[in-house]
Amino acid sequence: MELFDAHTHIDMKHFKNDIEKVIQRAKDAGLVGMVTSSIGTASFRRTLGIVKKHEGFIHHSPGCSVSQLTSDEAEKIAALIRKYSKEIVAVGEVGLDYYWVKDSRGRKNQEPLFQMFIELATELSLPIVIHSRKAETEAIDILEKCFSGDVLMHCFDGPLEAAKRVADNGWYITLPANFSKYRNRRDAAEIIPLEQILLETDGPYLSPTPDRNEPANIIYGVESLCEILDLPDEEVARSTTSNAIQFYRL
Ligand SMILES: [Zn+2]
Repeated sequence: MELFDAHTHIDMKHFKNDIEKVIQRAKDAGLVGMVTSSIGTASFRRTLGIVKKHEGFIHHSPGCSVSQLTSDEAEKIAALIRKYSKEIVAVGEVGLDYYWVKDSRGRKNQEPLFQMFIELATELSLPIVIHSRKAETEAIDILEKCFSGDVLMHCFDGPLEAAKRVADNGWYITLPANFSKYRNRRDAAEIIPLEQILLETDGPYLSPTPDRNEPANIIYGVESLCEILDLPDEEVARSTTSNAIQFYRL
């Protein structure tokens, strides 16, 4: 089976001591590639080195830590994205975070930064990866108005209405490896066509096991999707991998 982790954070400190082993385990588990998302300027620079060392296997989608983003940091990230635009596969994760940011002013302040990254993705003709924690509807509203490229709603956690809009717009979602625990994500897996579903670990977060999450765990997501769709694992693996390759234009 050929597997693909469509969104992880391989540069994070959780992997610092054994990153090469983590990457080897991913290959041993059948992964043919992964996309790692940097979430700031320091993370961006770390990721450049990792991607260079594992060219063709690890791909870079630079974004930000949405809940902590300042306009100063956003501008620096945007400058790096422009500078390295030929070495990246998408813009993001970028978007809105209403889970950590609860006050209305803080939430409003995220919008112009999100818009700036949307314009950047348009300018560079790159697909966009969206973080929209507890803000799926708001993020979809903005994207429907302002973006005509390919959209991936990373770690989709929205209500059924939002899932329907994603399906109708022909956008993509990723489901995390532990998604079967969540009713709304199981529902999304049922109503969004398989051609629009990718799998991710979001490692080191959202582990389906008691340990740190890592790309090799993508198999848990495959198994859950097989159960829900009543399809053989080869078919789910083949589809989700080719969807990732198509979305990221690899
Ligand atoms: Zn992430």
